Amino acid sequence: MDVAVVGGGPAGSSAALKAAEKGAKTVILEEHPEIGIPPHCAGIVCAEDLLKTGFTPPSKVIQAEVDKVLAWYEEYSFELPLKKKFLILNRPLFDKHLAKLAEQRGAELLLGSKVVGVRRDGSNLRVKILEHDTTRELLCKVVIAADGVASRIARMLGLHVSHELAACIQYEVTPNPIVEDGLLEVYLGTKYAPGGYAWVVPAGESARIGLGVRRAKKPAKHY
Ligand SMILES: Cc1cc2nc3c(=O)[nH]c(=O)nc-3n(C[C@H](O)[C@H](O)[C@H](O)COP(=O)(O)OP(=O)(O)OC[C@H]3O[C@@H](n4cnc5c(N)ncnc54)[C@H](O)[C@@H]3O)c2cc1C
Repeated sequence: MDVAVVGGGPAGSSAALKAAEKGAKTVILEEHPEIGIPPHCAGIVCAEDLLKTGFTPPSKVIQAEVDKVLAWYEEYSFELPLKKKFLILNRPLFDKHLAKLAEQRGAELLLGSKVVGVRRDGSNLRVKILEHDTTRELLCKVVIAADGVASRIARMLGLHVSHELAACIQYEVTPNPIVEDGLLEVYLGTKYAPGGYAWVVPAGESARIGLGVRRAKKPAKHY
């Protein structure tokens, strides 16, 4: 194997797609049995930036379009028009779309394959994979650590991963409580989300309501 990509999220699938496109024998190792599940994203992306990536999603992936924000602080609120249009994506569908594109370019996708170890072996790398209670090793030339923001794989390889993480919680609720088209809501201030903010994001018939906190005294769920 030339390239082992750990993680079948957008970073992993897009990296695998590019590697396979260039002719590298590529495998995506995803620990979950289904791509995009469980979802942990509100799905907000800048339409223009998404276009630049070249991964234009099919229309069924786009749940809403947003061009203004209603921001709340304490009992005050103000509406801000956004300079650019934002799309609300169905992340599980978007992730599946990218993984499929990677497969179409020749990458192999292995679901239910959790990487539990990586070590250097001369000029190669040995990737230890846990599948259905059994482990096996895969020898490859390159490992792409696309296992998310807190990448354990990068740490295993001695790479420096240092950034402050916010604790988040999000629910998908139906019906969508936002009545105005093109609007998403954010809530600022320690009352709602210390060190972060809360959001209500329209997603078609439903909405994603969540918040992220940093250095808060209590867990995100408390707020
Ligand atoms: C509540 C919440 C809301 C968010 N809202 C937004 C938003 O609106 N807009 C936005 O742009 N970003 C948002 N984000 C951030 C966004 O979700 C991430 O930036 C994005 O998912 C990162 O993509 P990724 O491919 O790097 O990692 P991920 O999407 O996290 O994918 C990593 C993949 O690796 C797999 N994996 C992990 N460890 C292993 C392992 N050892 N072996 C095999 N597979 C493994 C995981 O199962 C997962 O599929 C939000 C995040 C949260 C938590």
